[in-house]
Amino acid sequence: MTAPTVAGSDVDEGEGEDGAVLLSVENLRTTFYTDKETIRAVDGVSFDLRAGETIGIVGESGSGKSVTARSVMGLVESPGRVESESSIEYRGRELTTNTEKEWQQIRGGDIAMVFQDPMTSLNPVYTVGNQIKEALRLHQNLKGQAATEEAVELLQAVGIPDATRRLKEYPHQFSGGMRQRAVIAMALACDPSVLICDEPTTALDVTIQAQILELLEELKEERGLAIMFITHDMGVIAEVADRVNVMYAGEFVESAPVEGLFENPKHPYTQGLLRSIPGNNVGSERLETIEGEVPTPNEEATYCRFAPRCPEEFAECDHVHPESVPVGDEDVHHTAKCLLYPEDLPKAGRIGKHEQRSGDEGGDRS
Ligand code: SF4
Repeated sequence: MTAPTVAGSDVDEGEGEDGAVLLSVENLRTTFYTDKETIRAVDGVSFDLRAGETIGIVGESGSGKSVTARSVMGLVESPGRVESESSIEYRGRELTTNTEKEWQQIRGGDIAMVFQDPMTSLNPVYTVGNQIKEALRLHQNLKGQAATEEAVELLQAVGIPDATRRLKEYPHQFSGGMRQRAVIAMALACDPSVLICDEPTTALDVTIQAQILELLEELKEERGLAIMFITHDMGVIAEVADRVNVMYAGEFVESAPVEGLFENPKHPYTQGLLRSIPGNNVGSERLETIEGEVPTPNEEATYCRFAPRCPEEFAECDHVHPESVPVGDEDVHHTAKCLLYPEDLPKAGRIGKHEQRSGDEGGDRS
C-alpha cells in the first residue's frame, strides 16, 4: 500500500529518514502530588528515539514505564504533572508547553499509542471500519470510497484477512489478537512517525504475541516508524527492541543496545530480571525471583532505590545516589546507575565520581 501523507503537521518530511532523532526526552520528571505524599513516578529520565528504531522500556509494575509513555503523549492528569525542568522535543519542537489543542494535534497524528487492552481504543457500538474511517477523516481528510479503500489497505497491512468483510464487523466479532491488529491499523490511519506501545501483547497468548511483535517489526521497517515499546517482559524486549532502558522506581538504571544488555548486563537489577526469565537458569530447580517489591518513589533519590533488594548492596548505597556512568565500550553507549561502576576505579574513586555527578546533576542519556 502507499504510505499515507502526514496530516495536521508542518514538519519537514525529510527528517523522517532512518536514524533521525524524532523524539528527544531530557530530564523528564513527572510527579504526583497527594495530601499524603509526593510521588516521583518519573524521576529524571532522558532518551532519544530515532526513526526506524525501537527502544524498549522494561521493568516491573510500578517502575514508572506507563507514566513515562503518558507524559510523552501529554496524558498526565491531576494530581500529576510534568515538572517545568523537563523537556520533551518532537522534531525539535518543545511539547511540554503545549496547550491541550496542540496536544490533540500531536496525539493520534504525529505520535500514536497502542494500549494493552484494545477495547480501551475501540468503541464497541461502532464497526471497526467506521472507527478506522473516522481516524482517516480526522487526520487525513479522507472520506467516502477513498476512506473505505484506505481502511481496507490498512487492515490488510496489519494482516487481517478478508478485510472488506471485516470492516463491517464490530469489535466483539474480532478475536483478541485481531482486535489489537485493528487498533494498530487505527493508529496507522493517523500516519504517525512515533508509535508508543504500552504492553500491547501482555493480554495475548504467546503465538498471537509473536505475530503482533513480527507485525510491529515489519511496520517499523516498511514505514520507518520510531517505536517506544513498554513491557515487563524481558523475553519480549529481546524480540522487539534495538535499545533497552531498564526502569526502576522512576529511573533508568541501565541503558544499552539489546545485545549488550543481554550478553553483559551490569546493573544488579537487570541481572536479577534476566535470571528470572524461565529457561535462563538451566540446572536450577527453582525459578529465581527478586525478593520484595518496587518501592514507591516518594522521597528524593539521595540513595540507591534498589538497595533494599540488591544482593550487592554496601554501606554507601544507602546515602549516595548512583548516577549514570559508562559501563562498557563507549561506542555502544552502555550505561548504568550503580556504585559498583566504573569498574576500573577503586571504591573511593567510584563513590566520589557519583557524588560529583550528583552535584552536577550530570549523567548520560540513553
Ligand atoms: S548502588 Fe549499591 S544497592 Fe544500588 S544497585 Fe549498585 S550495588 Fe546495588
